[in-house]
Amino acid sequence: MSCKAGQRHHPIRIRQPRLSETLPGIGRPPVTFRVALPVPDLSEWRQPPSGISGVWIFDSGHTGPEIVVTAMVHGNEYAGGWALENFRRRELVPSAGRLTLILANLHAFDRFDATDPVLARHVDEDLNRLWHPTRLAGRDHSVELDRARVLQPLIARADLLLDLHSTLWPSEPLFIVPPRQRSVELGCALAEGDNLPPTVLTDLGHQGGSRLIEHAHFMAAGGTGRSCLLEAGSHWEPATVQVMENAIMRLIAQAETIHLRGQATDATREAELAVVTDNIIARHTDFSFVQSWEGGVIIPKAGTPLAHDGEDLIYTPYDECMLIMPNLRPRRGQLAVRLARRTAAPLRS
Ligand SMILES: [Zn+2]
Repeated sequence: MSCKAGQRHHPIRIRQPRLSETLPGIGRPPVTFRVALPVPDLSEWRQPPSGISGVWIFDSGHTGPEIVVTAMVHGNEYAGGWALENFRRRELVPSAGRLTLILANLHAFDRFDATDPVLARHVDEDLNRLWHPTRLAGRDHSVELDRARVLQPLIARADLLLDLHSTLWPSEPLFIVPPRQRSVELGCALAEGDNLPPTVLTDLGHQGGSRLIEHAHFMAAGGTGRSCLLEAGSHWEPATVQVMENAIMRLIAQAETIHLRGQATDATREAELAVVTDNIIARHTDFSFVQSWEGGVIIPKAGTPLAHDGEDLIYTPYDECMLIMPNLRPRRGQLAVRLARRTAAPLRS
C-alpha cells in the first residue's frame, strides 16, 4: 500500500488490552506549572473612556477597517493582558480605521491565584463556547454569557478580528481560523510575517459550542468579517507576550490590504496550512499519552501509538500526522488532542 501523507490507512482506536499493558506510558502528569510572568496591572481597563469595562478604542478619524483584538477570553491567559496593556500605553493609533482592544473576561482574571492558576479560566462557563446566535439570544444568564452580550456589538462590526490565546501544555504557537476562505487569508497574511508562527490551522470547531472566531459575523456566507485565533505559547511565559505583540503589530500594519485584498503587502515566507481531521475525545478517566507529546509535533508513520484510553490504544491514522495541543490530563469526555494534516491549498468556501 502506498503511504501518501494525508491518506487514512490505520484505525485511530483499537481495543487491545494485552498490548496496552506492554507499551510505555507517561500516566497522568501532575498539574504543576511554572508561572514565570507576573500578573499585569490592568487597573486602567476597569473604567476606560469607552464606558465599557475592558474595552479601549483608538479611532484614527479616517475611513478604514474595523480592527478588533481580543485577549483573556480565558481569564487566566494574562499574557494577552500584558500584550494589550503594553499596546494601550504606547497609544499606537492606526493610520486608518478604528482599533478596538478588548480584555474579555476580567471577572475570571480577578480570581487568578498562582497556587491554582487553572482556576481563573472562567467564572461560570467557558466564554469561548457561547458565540452561537441561539446562546447569545437565549434567556439564560451567566457571568460569561452576560459579558458576551455586552461585547457582541463590538465583535459584529469587526472587519478583522484577532483573538489572542495561550496554552497550558507545551505547544508550538499557531494560528487557528474558521473554515472560511476570507479568514484563511487573514491567518496566512499574519503567518507570513517575521517572528510569527508559520502554521495556519483550520479545525472542526468545538463540540461544546461556538468560539468567538465562529461568531455568525465571521461564518455568514457572503460576509466580509475575517477572524483568526492565535495560540501564542505557554500561558505564563514572557515569550508568549512577544509573539502576541508581533501579531498585533503585523495586523495593524497590514490591516487595510488584508481587509481589501485578503493578503499582506509583504511575505517573508509562505504560510503552512493544516486541517484538523479528527478530534480525539477521552472516553475514560485514565486516558494517558504514551509520551509527553508537544503540540505541533509531526508523527512520521501511520499506526504509531499515541495514547491509552481504557482498553483502547489510540494511533496515528496517517503518515505525517500533526498533533494539535495535546491535553496531557484530559477529563472523561474532554478533548485530548486534535489530529491534523498539512494541506497544499486553503479550503474554498
Ligand atoms: Zn484560551
